[in-house]
Amino acid sequence: MRTIGLIGGMSWESTAVYYRLLNEGVRDRLGGLHSADILLRSVDFETVVALQKAGDWEAAGRMLTQIGTGLEAAGADCLMICTNTMHLLADEVQAAMSVPLINIIDVVAEAVAAAECQRPLVLATRYTMEEDFYVGRMRRRHGLEPMVPDAAGRSLVHDVIFDELCKGRVDEGSRRAFVALSERAAADGADSVIFGCTEVGLLLSPSDVALPAFDSTVLHARAAIDFALGGDAATIAAA
Ligand code: GLU
Repeated sequence: MRTIGLIGGMSWESTAVYYRLLNEGVRDRLGGLHSADILLRSVDFETVVALQKAGDWEAAGRMLTQIGTGLEAAGADCLMICTNTMHLLADEVQAAMSVPLINIIDVVAEAVAAAECQRPLVLATRYTMEEDFYVGRMRRRHGLEPMVPDAAGRSLVHDVIFDELCKGRVDEGSRRAFVALSERAAADGADSVIFGCTEVGLLLSPSDVALPAFDSTVLHARAAIDFALGGDAATIAAA
């Protein structure tokens, strides 16, 4: 079994989900007392959020690259950045490493395309919804036409992620607000919903929304299990 390197802590609420999903997935596939072979580096999220707010992506890139190369040196056979937002730096981190970075954007986009969906609504942080690295990559590499909520909707989703979900709070009103956003998007032509933040699955389950839903955390963990248990590294690395 290959060793999965994780950069977690962004936030740890979702890293805990990754840890459980990876171990459950390996146990389900191999049986017995098998569990995932994991190297986890969990960061202090306050530090990362300060860099995000300052727009200091250079410093954040240096930090993630240093951690990624450290995990590789420690024996990781692949790298996962356990947050959609910080995939803004994924190409930079990958360039410094020899092992594949399993890119959450490509994993999610491939699942959306495989389900023959085309216009997913992306529920995510402001960075993920508004910068080009996520929706632009989905457009250019995967031929999707992602949609995002309007400005008020984006603020709402962003604030719920940072003020509630990353602090371990799950609020029924916020859940209803996310469902309402997906209903509005469906009326505007969305054919699916991407849980494009690794904490969204703490609030919403796919059965809460009428459209097909794609949970980035679940899909990312599944891709890592495939890799760890012998998936084609070249395919995943090509992402
Ligand atoms: N975990 C979140 C994501 O998937 C947000 C936290 C962050 O800013 O990294 O984007």
